[in-house]
Amino acid sequence: MNWWTTDDTHDPERTSWVDSAQGHCDFPVQNLPFGLFAPLGLEPRIGVAIGDMILDLRACARVGMVDPAVSGSLQETTLNQLLSLPGGQRRVLRHHISALLSDPAHRPALSDKLVRAADCVMHVPATIGDYTDFYAGIHHANNVGRQFRPDNPLLPNYKYVPIAYHGRASSIRASGVPVRRPMGQRKPPEADAPTFGPTERLDYELELGVWIGAGNELGTPIPIAQAGDHVAGFCLLNDWSARDFQAWEYQPLGPFLAKSFQSTISPWIVTAEAMAPFRIAQPLRPEGDPEPLSYLLDADDQRHGALAITLEALLLTRAMRDQGLAPMRLCQGPAANLYWTVQQMVAHHASNGCNLNPGDLLGTGTISAPTRDGLGSMVELTVGGKEPIHLPSGETRGFIEDGDEIVLRATAQAEGFVPIGLGECRAVVMEAK
Ligand code: MN
Repeated sequence: MNWWTTDDTHDPERTSWVDSAQGHCDFPVQNLPFGLFAPLGLEPRIGVAIGDMILDLRACARVGMVDPAVSGSLQETTLNQLLSLPGGQRRVLRHHISALLSDPAHRPALSDKLVRAADCVMHVPATIGDYTDFYAGIHHANNVGRQFRPDNPLLPNYKYVPIAYHGRASSIRASGVPVRRPMGQRKPPEADAPTFGPTERLDYELELGVWIGAGNELGTPIPIAQAGDHVAGFCLLNDWSARDFQAWEYQPLGPFLAKSFQSTISPWIVTAEAMAPFRIAQPLRPEGDPEPLSYLLDADDQRHGALAITLEALLLTRAMRDQGLAPMRLCQGPAANLYWTVQQMVAHHASNGCNLNPGDLLGTGTISAPTRDGLGSMVELTVGGKEPIHLPSGETRGFIEDGDEIVLRATAQAEGFVPIGLGECRAVVMEAK
């Protein structure tokens, strides 16, 4: 079984006896993402999303309703052990859950193990040992590079090296947790010296998150042909950024406090198995671009390694909320705008022998499109704040203000299959303190 092979769990005819699953924009029975949820006042436990409901997998495991081989990992308080399972075992579990939720014969035994998602708090699903953020959105790299270096937007390494930096794992929070506007050093170009204060250029970044499954031993690289076996699933990632801090601190070692104050993820892990129907060929590189070096080049990865996912970011200000207005879409674009596949990121990350662990998180980098409607950050949309955007409330925005909420969403679509979503990634910005 390859990570792009579909099976009867993806059958578009399959339905669930959980009514809200039918036609659900994120969680039809073809998705079945794993998460860590807490019903009101209770401790977190592992579950699977189905329509507007969550099936309590810990409760299922406790009464022997799942394969004994995975029963222990479903009773943990994080998903790390489940993520560490070989893809084959996760696939068996997926088949089993799909059968439980599609065959109405299981309804009587499961109805007391279903809770309304709206009544639960979602947690960060795994203990994230390490978080690495890539920079694989080439249009973003071009747009931002042009602002920092007009004559030289892409540095010479970009088309050879999947560029990344080591991010901060401790400050990653699940969707819904507010973000405090960070304090830091900022020095406008015209000023002689920096001052310390709240960021004046708070930004969002629209990214895919990648959950690492099985890890590799320190000193043992992951060959590109096997890199897909180490990817357990996907989420949305908002890599909040303080652009003024970033501009001042980023040379020579890259982002630090401009990014580490908080990152927000969607709480559901949409598995690599669920994503199988939505694998597409990596777009051909433009004429004149170099071929990836051989350790990053694999025929199957080029044929199946990209993702048919459309991502979008929306903004809801306090005034818009007060006026009952809907969030305004800031951008929308395909994940195929990534210059590197997720497998290339994994193979590159481990190519020096660096060990990845179950529950590590990768960010793809901001995914922007070449056109204005697909720019995945404010710094691109407003050209560094110089061309503010106009909102339906009559307000304008150069960057994100206190009380603003950023919402990320994404849908995977392919001809002949039921679309699935990644669930929401949202957070409100609170004033600095
Ligand atoms: Mn980023």
